Amino acid sequence: ATKGSAGQTTVIQQQSILTVTDVKVNVSMPEAAKKAAETGADGVGLLRTEHMMLAMGVHPKKFIREGREDELVKALVENILKVADTFYPKTVWYRTLDAPTDEFQSLEGGEDEPYEHNPMLGWRGIRRELDEPEILIAEFKAIKKLHEQGYTNIGIMLPLLQHPDELRKAKKIAESVGLKPQKNIEFGMMVETPAAALTIEDFIAEGLDFVSFGTNDLTQYTLAIDRNNENVAELYNERHPAVMKLIKRVIIKCNEAGVKTSICGQAGSMPDVVEKLVELGITSVSANTDAIPAVRETVARVEKKLLLKAARKLIQE
Ligand code: PEP
Ligand code: MG
Repeated sequence: ATKGSAGQTTVIQQQSILTVTDVKVNVSMPEAAKKAAETGADGVGLLRTEHMMLAMGVHPKKFIREGREDELVKALVENILKVADTFYPKTVWYRTLDAPTDEFQSLEGGEDEPYEHNPMLGWRGIRRELDEPEILIAEFKAIKKLHEQGYTNIGIMLPLLQHPDELRKAKKIAESVGLKPQKNIEFGMMVETPAAALTIEDFIAEGLDFVSFGTNDLTQYTLAIDRNNENVAELYNERHPAVMKLIKRVIIKCNEAGVKTSICGQAGSMPDVVEKLVELGITSVSANTDAIPAVRETVARVEKKLLLKAARKLIQE
């Protein structure tokens, strides 16, 4: 398979610091891909869909309702293509739609979004996508089209899972459009609920290529602190030992099983957190564009420290 032409002309800045742990970048809008790639990032650890959808101004379910699925697929292809092409052949993990009801109300066709008392605990992420599979199907069809054009560097990442059944059902839907999870496309999930972290081995048994810590949500659900509630914002803390314990557990289980681990929440842009994660053996970290130089420097420094420690131990033996 061959990729499109634009990727061949994209100049990706040479990275001067090499690390074993990949340092990837988060992308929310296709227009930001070039700047993100110029950091020399080793791929996109989180391509968000929500901002693209919000920028379109139309609720995705309006396309479906009006029998215009092809237009939705086309728009998705155009948007994802820009990122996949800019980063080719580096991996881009496309995160399927995580639409909280309150954020999608303002869109054309979003008038009938249900009112929820607490949208953060409500109808969003994979649970919503399994209830409205037409949108998930449109996303998978877009990725399938891009794969056929040679953009095999796109992987799929599912948001907000709390039970392995959700992974199994999403894989079935991917298969129904002709994708082959873990065979011809990387397939993974975010770890954003304590439930997923505490039972990660059950998800691994279902079949996974990678997991990525969504620490923005993992923190709010572990600490019972609504990330959007200013009254409790001071208590919100990604470094809380309970959050770190969950992360550690998942990295250990995933490393045992050969499943890749990453982080794409805001904590992935915090050098002190990144330091801990590298020590725990995370496979990659994904940070905001602006944070990439500091994160890469941190990763290199920690890796050097770990390497020296291991070498000295070996010499002493
Ligand atoms: C997260 O929860 O950490 C995450 C990356 O997803 P989002 O911020 O889009 O919910
Ligand atoms: Mg999240």
